[in-house]
Amino acid sequence: MSFRTKLREHTLEEIRDLLTSLGEPSYRGDQIYQWLTRKVALSFMEMTDIPKSLRLKLEDHFDLSLPSVVDLQSDDEGTTKFAVRLEDGEIIESVLIPERDHYTLCVSTQVGCAFGCKFCLTGKSGFKRDLSVGEILAQVVIAKRFLKLKGESLPLRNIVFMGMGEPLANYKNLVKVLKILEDKRGFNFSRKRLTVSTVGLVRELRALAKEFPTALALSLHAPNDELRRQLMPIAKKYSLSELIEIIKTFPRVKKGRITIEYLLIKDVNDSLREAEELYRLLRGLPVKINLIPFNPHPDIPFERPSEEIIYNFQRYLLSKGMLTTLRKSKGVKISAGCGQLRRRLEGELLTPNPIYFEATLRAEAFS
Ligand code: SF4
Repeated sequence: MSFRTKLREHTLEEIRDLLTSLGEPSYRGDQIYQWLTRKVALSFMEMTDIPKSLRLKLEDHFDLSLPSVVDLQSDDEGTTKFAVRLEDGEIIESVLIPERDHYTLCVSTQVGCAFGCKFCLTGKSGFKRDLSVGEILAQVVIAKRFLKLKGESLPLRNIVFMGMGEPLANYKNLVKVLKILEDKRGFNFSRKRLTVSTVGLVRELRALAKEFPTALALSLHAPNDELRRQLMPIAKKYSLSELIEIIKTFPRVKKGRITIEYLLIKDVNDSLREAEELYRLLRGLPVKINLIPFNPHPDIPFERPSEEIIYNFQRYLLSKGMLTTLRKSKGVKISAGCGQLRRRLEGELLTPNPIYFEATLRAEAFS
């Protein structure tokens, strides 16, 4: 356990203060911040515009370590899944997805999840703890470093908070992470490229609307309260009418639409009756519907609908003028469904290895 201050937990202003408390000029904080964010440095030794004597001093006071990547899998289409082991041995996941002209990274915000959605592997494992600011940002650094080592020219442009955990249940850390990711002096992500996905924590959504409105993906998965309550325990606390109110009032970044995530589960919510109900619920609202065919897993008692059912559901919504997309199940072959890789790794002996991260990334990058 390191007792040095973990710099990756901090904003630029906080890093400047830490430097001045050591008697160093605050601009050193700006230099270090650039190295940590844009240049994704792993150690002070990489920070070549800082005198060596100062770098040695900084090493005594500050910890820049990243969690180790304990498994890394890529599929034929270039989707890469990282299993990352945290300091306390817990494992989280992030998934890097290639798009036409950029990459999207799906990050985790908690170890496990307390919300217990019936279709979700992470929910089945229960909640362990929130991730810290540094642990969430580390996933971005690992992905950027990976792309850099591969010599990849396409940028990492989108971050979606859609991995393990419910982002809004880790509200304080989430907002700090969002602010650091948007900071033009560092990572410089556009706010409309930061998407928070939620099961619909209404109280936190109202707070986010005031404090840091981002792009939003709302996990609906059912067109009425009764069915939603069967699938998602949170629906017992917040009704669909409260979520519709959020959709109507949440500030939209650059007039973008709110994404409605709808998992299609065979014989549960995939009939034309449910498609009609969904249309009646959402018509006229600034939304786009993203249909996600269920990705089967032996531990979850649901199945994927047939291709015909999936396309009929989508066709109905399109025929009603609803903007509706169908998510291609990227990463299915590499266990990229929520919580699946972590579950596979649990129980395996994971040997700590300080050089595993760079070695693995290099092997992957040059294979
Ligand atoms: S779907 Fe999201 S909120 Fe629901 S249990 Fe899984 S991780 Fe938690």
